[in-house]
Amino acid sequence: MTYAADVLVIGGGIIGLSCGFYLSKRGKRVFVLDSGGFADGASGACDDMILFQSKKPGINLALTFESLELYKSLLTELDDDLGFANMGGMVLIENQQELEIMEEFVAQQRSYGLDVEVIDKRAMLKKQPFLSDHIIASTYSKMDSQVDPFSVMRGFERKGGSYGMKVFRRNGVVGIDRIGTGDYQVVTEDGSIYQAPIVVNAAGTWAGQIGEMVGATIPIKPKRGQIIVTERIPQIGDTNLWSAKYLVTKLRSDVVVDLNEDERSMGLSMAITRSSGDTYLIGSTREFVGFDKNTTIAGIRAIIKQTLTYLPKLRDVNFIRAMAGLRPSTPDGRMLLGEHAGIEGFFTAAGHEGDGIALAPITGKLLASMVCRDPVDHRLDELSPNRFANP
Ligand SMILES: Cc1cc2nc3c(=O)[nH]c(=O)nc-3n(C[C@H](O)[C@H](O)[C@H](O)COP(=O)(O)OP(=O)(O)OC[C@H]3O[C@@H](n4cnc5c(N)ncnc54)[C@H](O)[C@@H]3O)c2cc1C
Repeated sequence: MTYAADVLVIGGGIIGLSCGFYLSKRGKRVFVLDSGGFADGASGACDDMILFQSKKPGINLALTFESLELYKSLLTELDDDLGFANMGGMVLIENQQELEIMEEFVAQQRSYGLDVEVIDKRAMLKKQPFLSDHIIASTYSKMDSQVDPFSVMRGFERKGGSYGMKVFRRNGVVGIDRIGTGDYQVVTEDGSIYQAPIVVNAAGTWAGQIGEMVGATIPIKPKRGQIIVTERIPQIGDTNLWSAKYLVTKLRSDVVVDLNEDERSMGLSMAITRSSGDTYLIGSTREFVGFDKNTTIAGIRAIIKQTLTYLPKLRDVNFIRAMAGLRPSTPDGRMLLGEHAGIEGFFTAAGHEGDGIALAPITGKLLASMVCRDPVDHRLDELSPNRFANP
């Protein structure tokens, strides 16, 4: 069978569906093609945060502000609550060195417009009474919010469908050519052919493989994250929680941070977030193990052990599920968003690493704007895929 569209989006995770939704809203006839089932990629095996506090002043933080506003408007537009919540977040500080680095970081974020502060132990325990005694202070931002990624993806698909978007699953893309008209011809596993003048590569961690089909250099590597899910329990404390340790290693490569073996070998850092289903999502690891998305006993054990050092109250809570997703990571921690030079009509929207849920709406909106040839937004030059064209 041969199918024709205005735009073919390869990858139907949260980024591909957001691109498809915003493109179809702009009047484009869009097909989304995915090799797996619904939410089979990272978007179905992740936390749910629109997290501000992890971000340095710069493009990722600026776009998170914009994405949050878009999420608020999507609540009405997608006719769904999207599991949206605004519990705020705290980054837990364990020693003086972390405190000094976090104070400096918070000052930078504040000067960039983020509503965040460092709070003392008393104020911290008021918000989170069950924290371990060794934690000396924390940050607090009421901006940190969350959504249910599954609801967001379903919402994009449903509303996009009402604009004519079609999603084809379990039929991966195996080849891309150009035909005489200049259009792209995309071939899938079952031999079907899809033709369009524009292709959007939104294949997440697999975007490099799609890039190779047209000769584009896309240095995205899979970074595995394992998380566990608890049974449904009453809310513990007012906010979501992260440990400062990992953030500190990213902020200051010049300081020696005291990491234990699990933190060193698995890139383990603590995140505890309450999901819209009244469970807690707890993680996570950051591992370079190729495209292996299995969970491991060692990973699960390490997450549990670490969690109890921060929140001993969870000792008697059952975990009911473990999962692993592959974060699409880039060498500079920024996504690739834009058209590839010399490959006219071929765009990439991938490489969001740990921020794809937060940045999905703004990514889709900006991508649609680029495809529709709106005036160029030069802020986005630093996200251009062409920064990796000549490594
Ligand atoms: C443990 C963990 C915690 C996280 N927590 C957060 C968080 O709190 N907040 C946040 O913002 N982000 C978080 N992330 C990151 C977020 O999950 C990702 O950035 C986001 O899901 C990436 O979305 P995507 O659509 O680009 O990729 P994916 O969801 O992986 O989608 C890519 C799709 O491409 C498809 N595909 C692959 N090859 C082909 C092919 N040949 N043909 C067709 N289709 C193909 C796949 O089947 C897949 O569905 C977390 C990630 C992990 C792993």
